[in-house]
Amino acid sequence: MFDDIHAEADPTVWDAADPLAGFRARFSLDNAGVIYLDGNSLGRPPRSVQAAMRDIIDGQWPHSLIKGWDHWIDLPARAGDRLAGAALGARPGEVLVSDSTSVNLYKLAAAALAAAPPGRRVIVTDDDNFPTDRYVLQGVAEQYGGELRTVETDIDTGVDPQAVAEAVGGDTALVSLSHVAYRSGALADMTEITDVAHDAGALVLWDLCHSVGSVDVALRDCDVDLAVGCTYKHVNAGPGAPAFLYVREDLHDRLRQPIWGWFSQADQFDMDAGYRPQTGVGRFAVGTPGVVGVAGVLAATELIAEAGMPAIREKSMRLGEYAARLVAARLTPLGFTLASPADPLRRGGHLTVRHPQAWQISQAMREAGVIPDYRTPERIRLGFAPLYNGYTEVRDAIDRMAEIVSTEAHVAYPADPGRVT
Ligand SMILES: *Cc1c(COP(=O)(O)O)cnc(C)c1O
Repeated sequence: MFDDIHAEADPTVWDAADPLAGFRARFSLDNAGVIYLDGNSLGRPPRSVQAAMRDIIDGQWPHSLIKGWDHWIDLPARAGDRLAGAALGARPGEVLVSDSTSVNLYKLAAAALAAAPPGRRVIVTDDDNFPTDRYVLQGVAEQYGGELRTVETDIDTGVDPQAVAEAVGGDTALVSLSHVAYRSGALADMTEITDVAHDAGALVLWDLCHSVGSVDVALRDCDVDLAVGCTYKHVNAGPGAPAFLYVREDLHDRLRQPIWGWFSQADQFDMDAGYRPQTGVGRFAVGTPGVVGVAGVLAATELIAEAGMPAIREKSMRLGEYAARLVAARLTPLGFTLASPADPLRRGGHLTVRHPQAWQISQAMREAGVIPDYRTPERIRLGFAPLYNGYTEVRDAIDRMAEIVSTEAHVAYPADPGRVT
């Protein structure tokens, strides 16, 4: 696979032939000279997202005032439907844009525990899951008289389906994992692990934060029960953009989330005395949505739909594999090691390298016009965004890393990471 990709290839040839190359101009590129490899933490702004937000702020809000709610009220469901089809392999009516990932995770995990029989109180996750996932699941387990069981995971190669199979059983209510590991980029086997959970009689809840907009997700084909994810990473909907949740349609009636807000009430504006949740995915809403943010998610999703997830995933894998080959050829001799799976099919949209001075190197990279992400312990994440990153950028980024380390330019930077994100 990817036999044409090697460290000595000329990346300008691939950039010239890239079917997605035109999408770069659709982004706001104030700092076009910067090689931005951190779109897996916060995507660059698409112009259409900025325009959609401006339209709410400058057009719809001042003009429509309260009448604006006549159409804003449907926006979270419309954005959810669009995301369902364009990026999640889900059906209309199964996805809702709402709240943050952490809050959605809480709502769905709590709903799963509340619906499980008394003998099923265990939530299974892995010890390298994203911190908010581990904390939220720990809280839900405690609040619902359950137990959080953590599967040991290699932080570079990701969660092993066999280990999950050994952890689940007749006591398990829920298996909740991240699809793409935030540190290594390891891609979990959604099909196999979902089957493992189902064979044990448990529900499965996938966190898609690092996969949505990068890996083509097939929730329906994998028969996934529940999922959550954010939209400010590979979906490019802006800082703190609202998240989404997915609940497979046949589960809507069976599940009730713990926050009984008025936006999930049937006939919301009847202002009834008692709580009666809606029948559809709207029963997982809580309160008034942030309209500017949701409008941004819808516009960002349109851009992904236009490019198409198969093309995005294909280029993402090629960018990542090119980076991996360059790492092997130019960075390994300088003391770096690969801290991601070697197989491109087992990786999401980022590649992680390890070096004892990773923190200092990441600071020197920023100074040299390359923005990566630093992650403990001793790791640098390189995120690839197929809609605005090119192959030549990847080569230049790795070259600059090699230059920094071979000239020891990084040793001038503080060795102690402060509070970083
Ligand atoms: C980024 C990320 C989150 C973020 O959750 P928020 O509630 O948006 O802060 C959660 N889970 C994973 C796996 C992530 O990568």
